[in-house]
Formats: sequence, structure tokens, C-alpha cells
Amino acid sequence: MTKIADLLAAGPTFSVEFPAPKSPGMLRQLEKAARELEARRPDFCSVTYGAGGSTKDGTLEAVEYIHRETELVVMPHLTCAGQTREDVLGLVQRYRDEGIENLLALAGDPPLDGQQVGDFRFAVELIDLAREHADFTIGVSAFPEVHPNSPSRDEDRRRLADKLSKAEFGITQFFWTADHYFRLRDELDALGCTTPVIPSLFPVGNIEVAKRITGMNGAEWPQWLDDRLAAVADDPEGIRRVGIDVATEIGARLLEEDPPGLHLYTLNRSESAGEIWDNLGLDDRRTK
Ligand code: FAD
Repeated sequence: MTKIADLLAAGPTFSVEFPAPKSPGMLRQLEKAARELEARRPDFCSVTYGAGGSTKDGTLEAVEYIHRETELVVMPHLTCAGQTREDVLGLVQRYRDEGIENLLALAGDPPLDGQQVGDFRFAVELIDLAREHADFTIGVSAFPEVHPNSPSRDEDRRRLADKLSKAEFGITQFFWTADHYFRLRDELDALGCTTPVIPSLFPVGNIEVAKRITGMNGAEWPQWLDDRLAAVADDPEGIRRVGIDVATEIGARLLEEDPPGLHLYTLNRSESAGEIWDNLGLDDRRTK
């Protein structure tokens, strides 16, 4: 089974995410992390795509490595905002011809220089293009705490429900309180949306980085998290431990309500994701 739609239909999926490598050294690190995590048999893994196509080659190389050299089912992230139809279609076709069967279709953020050149604005446009040219299982993003560009919560949920109706599943942005995910789930239920949305877990490894990304996502950085991290701020291993503990606690709370899966950020290191995996007993929860 290599289509995520089929995997989800057979039970919850436990998956991992690798950030797109920006250098040959980072690619080697990703390859090592992928090989180490392969032993835990995640249902699938994904590889991110740098904003505006900035890691086009790195993402492609990483996806091809995982697809050809490991047993992992791999799903590339692909963004479209600020890019030409020709460039985006080129990658869609390349992945299809490589035998890749899953795609995470994203708008992505337009280039930082503010020059909005390109043929796309929204993720739904990429879904349409990919459907025209390939038979992927398509996933999309979801923001439990509302996408920062959305004018209102209602509008965000309506757009998201529309997008999910064109996709096979969603994956959330990470969050620090499981209730954000449960509220999203309930709001989508109320809109009649039945597409599974998989929550993500992010192990803090660096306080400033985690805080910055949380802020960019328009998400809450709770005081209790700040306090727990402040207590170990001078000790990198202490920070990593708190990161693992917090992700484990959020994951355990999520699992109480049987989500369609869990998606773990790896930051291209296998240790933290592997420890969270084991703490949550994901091997024993496998139904396939
Ligand atoms: P969309 O779903 O298109 O939505 C963007 C905004 O536009 C929302 O506010 C939405 O409500 C609004 N909108 C959507 N359609 C319409 C419409 N027709 N009319 C008006 N408004 C509309 N970024 C990367 O660069 N690379 C990655 O690999 C990457 N991976 C991600 C993985 C996950 C799981 C998540 C949650 C995010 C990821 N991102 C990634 C970030 C994401 O690309 C950015 O947040 C980006 O700003 C929005 O992309 P999107 O696909 O969510 O956009």
C-alpha cells in the first residue's frame, strides 16, 4: 500500500516530516535520519519545499533518495505561489514519472521581495493542476489556530473545508495545546467536512526557532511552555528533553480522541522523533 488515502482507510497513520535540505551536508543528514527512522516503519514520510521553490533541487534529490533507497513511502511538499505554471508542472510530472503517489499541495508563501510574479495564488489551484496530470493522493495544510492571512475564523474554516473537499487528507500546522486541534475538528465536522486531518507534533530543539515559527504561523506560544523552557534555557540537552516531553504530552492527549494519525517533525534528526514515537507506543498502536 503506497497511497496515503489507502493507508488512512486502514487505520491511523503515524508519519514523519523531513525539512528540505539546503546543502549537500543537510542532504546527508536527512538520508541518515531517514534510514534510522525507517526501522520504526512510519506509514509515510514527507519532505518540505523551500518557500517560492528555493529548495527545488534539494527536495527532489531527497525525495528520490528516499523513494529509491529506502522502504519508506514518501510524499513531497510542493508549493505554487509566486511560481510559473511551467516550473510547477515540471515537478508534478517528474514526481509522477518517478512513481511517487502522494503530494502535499500548498500555496506556500510568495517571495519575500514582495514581487508576486507567478501563475498561482492558492493551494486549490495546485490541486487542480496535479489532478489534471497525475493520479496522486493529495494532502493539504490546515491551521488549527487559523491561517494568518485569513480575514476571519469563519472564512478560514469555509475555505479550508472547500480545499479539503478536493483533497484526500489534511495535515495541521503544529500547536502547543491539543484543544486547538479538537476545536478545528469540531468546526470542520459542523461544516460537514469528513476529510481526515492529521495533527502534527513539533519537538522543540531550539527555543528561539520554535518561538519564531510559532509566531509566523500566527499560533499561541503559551506561558507554561515558556516557563518550562526557561528553566533549562542554558542546557541544550535539557531543552531537547522538554521538547520531547511536551510533544509526548500533546500526542498522548490527541491519541485519547483517536485522531486519523500523528505527523512528527524530525528536523532531520532521528533521536527526538524516535523517542516521541516510543513514548507514545506508536508501534503497538499500529493496525496495519
Ligand atoms: P491556502 O490553502 O491557499 O490558503 C492561504 C490563505 O488563503 C488562507 O488564509 C486561505 O483562507 C486563503 N484562501 C484560500 N483560497 C482562497 C480563495 N480562493 N480566495 C481567497 N482566499 C483564499 N510552506 C512552504 O513554503 N513549504 C512547505 O513545505 C510547507 N509545508 C507545510 C506543511 C504543513 C502541514 C503546513 C500546515 C504548512 C506548510 N507550509 C509550507 C506553509 C504554507 O505554505 C504557508 O502557510 C502558506 O502561507 C499558505 O499555504 P496554504 O497551502 O495553507 O495556502
